[in-house]
Amino acid sequence: MSKASSQTTKISSLAFLIIVIVFALSLVAIYLALTSFLTGEKIVAGYLILIGFLGIGSSLYVLFQMRRRTLALRMEAPPITTVIECKKCGFKSVREFQRGDYIFKEVEPCQKCNEKMVITAIYREVKRKKPSTIF
Ligand SMILES: [Zn+2]
Repeated sequence: MSKASSQTTKISSLAFLIIVIVFALSLVAIYLALTSFLTGEKIVAGYLILIGFLGIGSSLYVLFQMRRRTLALRMEAPPITTVIECKKCGFKSVREFQRGDYIFKEVEPCQKCNEKMVITAIYREVKRKKPSTIF
């Protein structure tokens, strides 16, 4: 699971690099547009400014889409929760699932009475999805 997520990060960081390059090139295009406008080449300036704004617009759009996709992925995989209970005093503690957790496994001692605590439940927290329409 961690292998897959690191791969995703690698892909998105590459995509991010491409976006940054496109963004930088677009800024250069706008700069060139301004200089060619000053030298009187208005048609060239017009084209360059069009390219520049298209580049900035599309890179921002892709960045926004990527952000939305990562948010959606995070929503698809809700966290797994482990419930630990003390058999002696009934003290209950909830924490994030850790590798190797299983029901009836004895874990860390109770905070109240120092008795060994036992995992009583492992469940996936399902949060209600927010409406995805933004516009
Ligand atoms: Zn206890």
